[in-house]
Amino acid sequence: MSFVQFVVLAGGTGGARFLRGLRAAAPDADITAVVNTGDDVTMHGLRICPDLDTVVYTLGGGIDEERGWGRVGESWTVKEELAAYGADPDWFGLGDRDLATHLIRTRMLDAGYPLSAVTAALADRWRPGVTVLPMSDQRVETHVVVTDPETGRNQAIHFQEWWVRHRAALDASAFVQVGVDAARPAPGVTEAFAAADAILLAPSNPVVSIGTILGVPGLREALLASPARIVGLSPIVGGDVLRGMADRCLPVLGIEVSAEGVGRHYGARAAGGLLDAWLVHSGDTADVPGVDVVTVPLLMSSPEATAAMARAALDAAGV
Ligand code: GDP
Ligand code: CA
Repeated sequence: MSFVQFVVLAGGTGGARFLRGLRAAAPDADITAVVNTGDDVTMHGLRICPDLDTVVYTLGGGIDEERGWGRVGESWTVKEELAAYGADPDWFGLGDRDLATHLIRTRMLDAGYPLSAVTAALADRWRPGVTVLPMSDQRVETHVVVTDPETGRNQAIHFQEWWVRHRAALDASAFVQVGVDAARPAPGVTEAFAAADAILLAPSNPVVSIGTILGVPGLREALLASPARIVGLSPIVGGDVLRGMADRCLPVLGIEVSAEGVGRHYGARAAGGLLDAWLVHSGDTADVPGVDVVTVPLLMSSPEATAAMARAALDAAGV
């Protein structure tokens, strides 16, 4: 059997679950995940990479399945103690087990290791079974432009503050990738695209997960230079988002909250967009000119269902 290589662009929960299905569908394949780091944030002096951690914990068996983020069997003693001191911010969930990850990451970053090396070191423990790469070693942080309800002025806040603290309830007018101009794809990213037999866009948030990854200068060009087919999976099922608030992000960019809306946003590779094929959920329809639209079940309701979905994506990629 020939040795096959797949690359997946991934955010947190949707990306991680999909990667688990792909690993099951293609156990012998060499899989590289290029993961969004735009959600990364520093809190209490610690560097936190939510999407990288979700991917590594999920694939390594350490995730809290119900919550979809953080460690299983978590306790919250440090968080309670911080609250007792009145320490800000108090709205971000930092579990005791999870803290060990952030402590090690911060220490390594402070010692001068790039995020890609830190991620590899953390993955050494979790053995995710795929190569996990941050989209970039440079810091790129998504900020959200919102109107302060009190002053009426526009203000940019960190994505985490908008998403976690405000539950995305403040109307956003733009997403800004702070630091993106100086960013480059992390080591291994462009090489993985060049060697890929298939490139898959996980059913992740099209704006603040996939969109952020694609915003890294040079990354989109490297992706499109790949000889592999590019196949996307819709995160919108039956006109709605699953497990999240992506419906709050799409309209900011004028994208309709539908499988067709997101497919058209990504666009046909043949027409300056990204996609060779677009997978939409059974019962959904999408007319995306120049793209092969495939209708299959896209609910990651069980490991088997997710693996079948990954198999369908590989079929659409021609591998
Ligand atoms: P985040 O970083 O944790 O927000 O996760 P991602 O960006 O990777 O994924 C969030 C997206 O996953 C949301 O837009 C959901 O609509 C999508 N999603 C979650 N579960 C499913 C599922 O079972 N099927 C599909 N097709 N999409 C899903
Ligand atoms: Ca995320």
